[in-house]
Amino acid sequence: MLEKQNLLGLTQEQFKKFFSDLDEKPFRTKQIMQWIYHQGASNFDDMHNFSKDLRQKLRAIASLELPEVVSINNSKDGVIKWVIKLGEENHIETVYIPQKDRGTLCISSQVGCALACTFCSTGYQGFNRNLKSYEIIAQVLIAQNHLKESKKRISNVVFMGMGEPLLNESPVYDACELLLDDWAFGLSRRRVTVSSSGIVPALLRMSDKVPVSLAISLHASNDELRDVLVPINQKYPIKELMKACHYYLNAGTQERHVLFEYVMLEGVNDSVEHARSLSKLLNYWFKGESAKVNLIPFNPFPETKYQTSKESTIDKFQDVLFRSGIRTTTRRTRGDDVDAACGQLAGKVLDKSRRNAGRNQLLS
Ligand code: SAH
Ligand code: SF4
Repeated sequence: MLEKQNLLGLTQEQFKKFFSDLDEKPFRTKQIMQWIYHQGASNFDDMHNFSKDLRQKLRAIASLELPEVVSINNSKDGVIKWVIKLGEENHIETVYIPQKDRGTLCISSQVGCALACTFCSTGYQGFNRNLKSYEIIAQVLIAQNHLKESKKRISNVVFMGMGEPLLNESPVYDACELLLDDWAFGLSRRRVTVSSSGIVPALLRMSDKVPVSLAISLHASNDELRDVLVPINQKYPIKELMKACHYYLNAGTQERHVLFEYVMLEGVNDSVEHARSLSKLLNYWFKGESAKVNLIPFNPFPETKYQTSKESTIDKFQDVLFRSGIRTTTRRTRGDDVDAACGQLAGKVLDKSRRNAGRNQLLS
């Protein structure tokens, strides 16, 4: 039997083609998207303005199936973590972080990650496969359905879960399009953020194609240290990355910013000297308010050799950046009692030995 096509994750253009192949009019696209994303329809029989014939046809060839949720963990501070099963043995994690004036959903783009950043639990686990666009969008729908009951909403979506979004471009770009589309989630471009360790050619493509916000995982301001912490730096060093960020800033018609993420590792990258060197780098490449820094206290995981910087060290670091005119915030660790904090998302991947193979291939 032919496998049914999952329609979640189809963009407007893809829906139009889908309906045209069925000899249906283009206006079906708006109808079906609103059924799925605004009314929360999970099967074709709910779609009253579709003829019986069309509903039957859709049932035969397509589905709106969501993947199975294996567990939902509620942390003490309101963070919710979903573990979602994708096929055989793959699990991904999605995290909701409620804040005073918003609710941020942190989604995954890959099962695991091949980039093996030395401070990251996902990287430590290794890579298994890319997510399809419907698997990315399903995370948002699962969270949205769950949160509806408690009248909470998703105001921001960040690609800061498992995986490197810029190594899974097409599905991630399609998902971004749906997150911004008024017929689907209708978020503003400032509220959708792709976080990347710096895949330069993909970043250039994204700058032109996808009008979303950008976060770059910098973590060090010189190549010697960044080569160790973020090994993909050996292929795309800091200077190339800064040029690509510059390209991103100037590519869109609207004002853009780059958020630089910097994980605070005790005795590794957290001295006053490191802060000075970071501010020098950013002030050289960016003027005014176009670059911001987000300091992330390191979240430990069992296999790690790193430790979190002391609060006083982080304060001093932040002070140096402030005084050199760089807008800097420190991320509060949330959800760590359910392993939902940044870099603690490990999921479960099939074959850990792929970790080094994947990395060697990427660095070559
Ligand atoms: N691959 C992408 C997005 C996923 S990681 C990227 O690297 O940007 C999301 C963020 O969590 C990144 O800034 C990453 O550097 C950070 N992170 C990873 N492991 C961490 C840890 N153990 N503690 C704190 N932050 C971590
Ligand atoms: Fe991958 Fe990002 Fe983790 Fe690095 S920090 S291993 S790029 S998920």
